[in-house]
Amino acid sequence: MRIVFLGAPGSGKGTQSQRLVESHAIPQVSTGDLLRAHVKDGTELGRRAKAVMDAGQLVDDATILGMVRERLAAPDAARGFILDGFPRTIPQAEGLDVMLAQIGQPLDAVIQFEVQPELLVQRISGRRSCQDCGRVFNVHTAPVPTPPPCGGQCTTPRLVQRPDDTEATVAKRLAVYVEQTAPLIGFYERKGLLRKVEAEGELATVTARVEAALAR
Ligand code: AMP
Repeated sequence: MRIVFLGAPGSGKGTQSQRLVESHAIPQVSTGDLLRAHVKDGTELGRRAKAVMDAGQLVDDATILGMVRERLAAPDAARGFILDGFPRTIPQAEGLDVMLAQIGQPLDAVIQFEVQPELLVQRISGRRSCQDCGRVFNVHTAPVPTPPPCGGQCTTPRLVQRPDDTEATVAKRLAVYVEQTAPLIGFYERKGLLRKVEAEGELATVTARVEAALAR
């Protein structure tokens, strides 16, 4: 299954991807995670991207498309994937279409995560992730269980807040979403791929809604 998760920062795309990866045995391809790995490794791309990310802006389309093309060529993506946080602009969506047409594997569905804007700021500013396993927690809604830490994946939880998850940057990221990413809703609606999911409420409830939308 080839799916796009579309939604504002903090709408739960990453958390729900992590849950679906287990049940569907397909990888989560998060351009945010790929970029953060470049930043951590100190690559040339990572050095260029860091300032843009910290400012809450979008990294340029050519860089993102090159990174996604490389990731989707990996063997684990042959059975399908969840694209999380990509595409984020119309040119990225058009680039993705070309890429998938070349391998004869078009998208099956685009899930749009609907969350009220007020809730997004609270969700993002409470978000923490484990430095080691990447699992996402939230100080307000999904605190780390004691024990086991990290859902049992790591022995010691090392929670960090992303530098771009501070309240100052969040407003910018939300504005960028409205301007540059929200037009993708109409783009995918016109292609008949869009399925809206109410993404507020219990994690498991939202997962069930996503599964139901995918089964439609
Ligand atoms: P995320 O983890 O998806 O919230 O992404 C964190 C940051 O990485 C964003 O605020 C952007 O600066 C950058 N980024 C991630 N994905 C993309 C993308 N598809 N296009 C452009 N920039 C991206």
